[in-house]
Amino acid sequence: MPTVKNWQLGRDMAYPYDARFPSRQFAFVFNINRCIACQSCTMACKSTWTFSKGQEHMWWANVETKPYGGYPKWWDVKILEKLEAANPDGQVWGGQPADGRVGPYGAFEGQTIFEAAARTLSPDSARVLGYLPTDEEWNSPNIYEDNPVGKRGVRNKLDETGEQLPVHKSWFFYLARICNHCSYPACLAACPRQAIYKRPEDGIVLLDQSECRGYRKCVEACPYKKTMYRGNTRTSEKCIACYPRVEGTDPETGGEPMETRCMEACIGQIRMQGLVNVAEDGSWAEDRQHPLYFLVHVAKVALPLYPQFGTQPNGYYIPPRWVPRAYLRQMFGPGVDRAIDNYVSPSRELLAVLQLFRRSNRIIYKYEIQEGPKIYEGVLHGRKVEIYNDTVIAFGQHGREIFRTTVEEPIHVRPNTHANSI
Ligand code: SF4
Ligand code: SF4
Ligand code: SF4
Repeated sequence: MPTVKNWQLGRDMAYPYDARFPSRQFAFVFNINRCIACQSCTMACKSTWTFSKGQEHMWWANVETKPYGGYPKWWDVKILEKLEAANPDGQVWGGQPADGRVGPYGAFEGQTIFEAAARTLSPDSARVLGYLPTDEEWNSPNIYEDNPVGKRGVRNKLDETGEQLPVHKSWFFYLARICNHCSYPACLAACPRQAIYKRPEDGIVLLDQSECRGYRKCVEACPYKKTMYRGNTRTSEKCIACYPRVEGTDPETGGEPMETRCMEACIGQIRMQGLVNVAEDGSWAEDRQHPLYFLVHVAKVALPLYPQFGTQPNGYYIPPRWVPRAYLRQMFGPGVDRAIDNYVSPSRELLAVLQLFRRSNRIIYKYEIQEGPKIYEGVLHGRKVEIYNDTVIAFGQHGREIFRTTVEEPIHVRPNTHANSI
């Protein structure tokens, strides 16, 4: 198998094809701390792309309650168990976090789904360690929604100190998911007909249904279970990253790149999506004033989902601050503690960048900050905090200003003429 560089793992890894990178990559950051599981994102995608016959079970965008929920049921537990069985006690991180863009979480010493397959499966059986979910596992997208964890060993009772931060003893959180448009897609690697491809202009991973013969190798291989089989057409389908919007070819866009349907619909304002520049080695090229680059590589508050799978996913999450760290570390890697520390005591710049989420449906390529007056001083988590009412300005594809907003939310007082007008 060829060797490719995986910057999230801080090392080279085996992958069935030679590395080829797009000039720009579709990427997104979801702030889990803000998600309210309203499912507006889920329904925005459903009503746009998967409302037809045969697509009843297709939820390209879904929001599941962790730790018990999942769509399909137990998707992450099952693949984690398979990796553990392939490499008992070896799925660990080591090394030191690097300062630069490669290896910011240390080095993963275990096996990815590609490496575990090479060791445990026959060359003809599969190139990727995976499994095919049962029909029953695809049945219940909202299973265990809002079901929290209680005290260990005590059923049906929440922990009485569950309300105390920083880590709750009773807890759950909402994990919003779409296809990660991975840099090393497992779906693409597994397809025997090469019906899946990654676009060179934006890294969006698409599945050509005219080439697909429904072998479901992609469904088996994707560790995130984001390709889905459609029985009445006997082909597989997946999230298309709303590419006509990202391209600016959808009539609604007016020719300017626009964020996807699931991003635009987000009520909790947890989502930001964009296109990042890719360096020759597949890592993100330095782009200091790009909001996604800032969140992932400078503020280091946003982390990849299960980076140890090895697909180099392009979806990033600001982890929930109330959840036991051990659970979060197995899900987002060893960068969790630093990410939460930086999020709960945000720098002046981070606080401003967090205001960019969902002020517009246009893709942001760059931001600038204009400094404003100090509006608060106090102590938070034992640290001195100063908040400034800075203005953050978002720019679009050609450097045109899209919007500007402030850290302090403006207050509008309704004139008296409207009193009792309902
Ligand atoms: S998340 Fe799954 S379907 Fe999407 S690109 Fe990665 S491997 Fe393929
Ligand atoms: S990016 Fe578009 S196609 Fe993909 S999950 Fe979101 S709305 Fe659906
Ligand atoms: S629309 Fe936003 S807040 Fe609502 S469930 Fe989806 S990600 Fe969460």
